[in-house]
Amino acid sequence: MTTLGRLSRWSGNWIPAALARPFGAPTAVFFHGVERRIVDPALQSNQHRLDAFEDLARLLKRDFNVLPPDALAEVLRNPARHPRALFLMSDDGYANTLTMAAPVLKAHSLPWTLFVSTHHIDTGEFTPPTWARLFAMEAPEGGYKLPHIESALILGTYEQRAALAEDMWKCLKNMAFSHAQETLDVMRALLGKTGIDLKAKYPSETFLTWDQVRALDREGVTIGAHADVHWAMHEDQPTDFLREQALRPKQRIEKEVGHCRFFAYPFGNRGDVGRGAWEAVRDAGYDYAFTTIAGTLNASANPWLLPRYGLAPQETNLAAFLPVLRANNGRLRSWQSQIGA
Ligand SMILES: [Zn+2]
Repeated sequence: MTTLGRLSRWSGNWIPAALARPFGAPTAVFFHGVERRIVDPALQSNQHRLDAFEDLARLLKRDFNVLPPDALAEVLRNPARHPRALFLMSDDGYANTLTMAAPVLKAHSLPWTLFVSTHHIDTGEFTPPTWARLFAMEAPEGGYKLPHIESALILGTYEQRAALAEDMWKCLKNMAFSHAQETLDVMRALLGKTGIDLKAKYPSETFLTWDQVRALDREGVTIGAHADVHWAMHEDQPTDFLREQALRPKQRIEKEVGHCRFFAYPFGNRGDVGRGAWEAVRDAGYDYAFTTIAGTLNASANPWLLPRYGLAPQETNLAAFLPVLRANNGRLRSWQSQIGA
């Protein structure tokens, strides 16, 4: 977490919600999946525990005006008029968003948007970061030299593996996609030899099917795009790859669900989104796109580079914490201008 993040979280913990309310600012927040139990935090780092998620839903209902994404245009035009506005989102498209998250959010009448990575809905294949984590946790003990990774990887104790699980996907995502594919192919082949049924062992990594995505759409969940392959759209990726990452999910979702106006960048941080990415997303015809960079929603932000906050496993005082994120708006804008926005 950045110094700003720590500072905001610290101030968020002692400013009472009621006191912070007049200083509110509209924000977008996201989660990934929800599981009844977290068995292995090193692998299930994307999952909220169900009881914590229920607490979170109650808190959102109490302290915010949670709006559907159709209200974005009005909120961005007049942020000061909507100090309690919050847009709730989920990334990737895990099956447990239907079985675990949707009933909780429905019980509290909270509208939300689900961003799906269409290649993974089409194939059910794990995302590249999940493959990297699985490799770190499940490959047989030993030393490995993988293509495009300079240092040898040593897999031994649980602690070693958990540390590597956390680091390796970050190293992979900075590679050009074609290089990362070669590394991932070797990881998949080595994991294949273990004979472990990874899909059965790690059900929280299971993706929704299109039938299930449509079921969520029918319940009023807005379906948006989270690229085609869950992979970074940084400046070192070829233009064709970026164009495909923006265009294909829109076409797939429009065919399967009927409409797709919103996009969220995989990973979504400064190093993961470049000029080519937001221009490809704009040109593909999306109305708005979200990063994972801290900030509050206001009219001066480029509509294809909006800020968004990733919900921590446990949140206690979001009403005080989220408005403080406005302290990062200046930095967000200067980053936007660096990448031509
Ligand atoms: Zn994601």
